This record gives sequence, structure tokens and C-alpha cells, in this order.
Amino acid sequence: MQTLTLRCTLKPTPEQAAALEATARRFAEGCNHALRVAKEHGEFRRFKLHRLVYRDLRAMGLSANLAVQAIARVGRKKGSRARFYQPTSCAFDQRTLSLRGEDETVSLSTVRGRLRIPLKLGNYQRGLLARARGVQGGVLTQGPRGKWYINLVLRIETPTPPGGGGTIVGLDMGQKTLAMLSSGVRFSGGPLKGVRLRYLKKRAEVRSRLDRPSQRTRGVKRLWERLTRREARFVSHALHALAKRIVDGLEPGDTLAVEDLTHLRGRTARRGSTERHLHHLWPYAKLRSLLGYKAALRGVRVVAVDPRHTSQGCPRCGHTARENRRSQALFRCTACGFQHNAGWVAAYNVALRARGCSPVPQGIVARRAGSTGEGRCKPARILRVSSVHRLLSESPNQNALAFG
Ligand SMILES: [Zn+2]
Repeated sequence: MQTLTLRCTLKPTPEQAAALEATARRFAEGCNHALRVAKEHGEFRRFKLHRLVYRDLRAMGLSANLAVQAIARVGRKKGSRARFYQPTSCAFDQRTLSLRGEDETVSLSTVRGRLRIPLKLGNYQRGLLARARGVQGGVLTQGPRGKWYINLVLRIETPTPPGGGGTIVGLDMGQKTLAMLSSGVRFSGGPLKGVRLRYLKKRAEVRSRLDRPSQRTRGVKRLWERLTRREARFVSHALHALAKRIVDGLEPGDTLAVEDLTHLRGRTARRGSTERHLHHLWPYAKLRSLLGYKAALRGVRVVAVDPRHTSQGCPRCGHTARENRRSQALFRCTACGFQHNAGWVAAYNVALRARGCSPVPQGIVARRAGSTGEGRCKPARILRVSSVHRLLSESPNQNALAFG
């Protein structure tokens, strides 16, 4: 069982939209009142705050649930950060939100009573809703152009991965190659990089105009916001597509081994400033979490391993040295001369490490505590180098991810 958030667009009638707006406004007023009281008393602990403001909030016309949600929202913040709540979002729980599948509507308790609002669904949403075992609530939000969305928190039944026997596939994430699997499947970042560079350039241009007071007009500010939103949408779509293609290539029962992210940023080789900039903006953590839930839905295990030196260990002889990594793209072992794509070597080492038999230098923990216990599953198969060569030579670009 797994919870995930699904964002759906709402199609309210004008009256319903007005009711949603009134509810969000009332909710924000409640939050702001709770925040004021919390600051006055220097008290942000949820239970204490509850005692201080619950009655006020109910008197302001908030339902019991919304009052609790408002207190939770203020209590969560450590006080100084939030200064003011905008009336653009509002939280609901199981009692105040429910879904009806037959006519694709969501029912919400608003300040103007219970409303049944039609949802705008695509195939992706329909698929997930069909698998959902229940809804735990959701957050109503209003987009910058006045559209209403509901972020539903769904409970999804996930298949239990069959025990042992599957293939362990290692993953290396990068920029030039977005993802390299130890099975030899490669997702190129080329087309994506071009688009991101264009955004980078365009945004630098707009920013320089924003920096000059004479050109700091409303139109320019809007342009900046539009660009930011468009790029975020583009990256998010690319991440979803990438995660989906990685997971679709695996079978239920397989294990996807990924690097533990805490060390990732500092690991990779030297690069120019633009490269570095793109690298730091690329949301690896987001990709990881997308992989996590898409894998769970498919019955694929995800194991995080220690990422240190994965790009430096030789798959053939085990010799580990910084010098083995000749460049961003090339691995050549200084001891035995084994030569291969550096991303693939890293992915292969990640897979080995997940299996617990890696050429790991002494003093390094091969497997992170808390991941699958050793000896619990049968030894899994790891694709050999020769079969990878075949895969790579047969279809050098077939697996490259295309972005339109
Ligand atoms: Zn070697």
C-alpha cells in the first residue's frame, strides 16, 4: 500500500467557483488569525495552539475540519517564516472530501455547503483512480490564472514483488545521459539539454531587463513568471516520461538499484559553468521519488546503495582509482585496461552493490542500513558486460529518449 498525490483540474460552475473562492478566503483568514495568535503567544505547538484559537476559528465560520487544518498549517511552520497566508489553497480530509467514480466528481464541504464538482480527467488520472483503494483527503489550490485544482491524496494497492530471482538493474543518473541502466539501456539527455539551455538563455535575458529599473515593467515581470512556469512544466513532464520509460523496461520482481542521493551532487567529474548550472538545477530528488512510486506500482523493488566511488571501480578486475575515470564519458582501468562508457560502469557498480558483492574499497559500507537485508532474497542475475555490448551495438540510439 502506498499513498500518492494526484493533481486533477476541477470544472466548477460559476456558483461553485464562487463558493470555492469564499472557502479559500475564509480558510486563509483562519490561518492568518491563528498565525497572529501564535506569534503573540510565541506558541507554535499544535496542541497548545489548538486550545488558544479553535473556538475563534469556529466562530469565524470555519468547519471543525477546516479549523483543525488551519491550526495544523500554522503549527507546522516554525513561526517566523510564514508572514501571511494567501487565499489560494485549502485542505480537506476524509470527512470533508469524497470521490465518486461513476460520474467523475469530487464532493467538498465548503462554507456554502457540500458541493459536487466535476473533475477533468485524463487517462493517467483515470488509471490511478481506478486502482485507488481510498482517498485520504486533498488540497484545493487555485492556479495563477484562476483555475482550480485538487491534489488528491490516494491510497494505492501496490503489487508485492515476487521474492528473489529477478534481475538487479543499476541506474546512473547524469546530464548528457539522463539515465544509464546496467542492462545497457540508455536515455539520452541531448534534446532535453538543448531546450533547457534555451530556457537558461532566455531567462538570463529577461533577468537582465528586470535588473534595470527602467525596464522593470509589469509585462517583463509577467514574462519572467510565464517562463518559470513553462520551464517547470517542461521539466516535470520530462521527468515523468523518463521515470515511466525506465520502470516500464523492468519486470515485476526486478530490483532497481539507485545511488543514495545524499552524496550525489559532489560526485561527478569536472564540468564547465553552464554544465554545472544545468546539473544543479536538474531535480534528481524528484526523479528518484517518481521512480520510487512508479516502481512500487509495477512491483519493482528500489534499493538505495552507497554511491561513493561507483564511477571509479573496474567491473573486470575491481581496481578502484580516480584515474580510471578518464573523462565525463570514458572509463579506462589503469590496471587491466578495461574500457567502457563511464555511465554504464557506474550503473553496473550500483547493481553489484545492491547485490552485496561489489568491488567496494575497504572501509565503505556496501549497502545502506535499512535496505533489503542480506541473504533474504535469492541471488539475482546481473546482466553481463558481453550482453550489454550486444545491446549497445544493436541499438545505439533506439533507447534514446526523444522530446518533441
Ligand atoms: Zn580493471
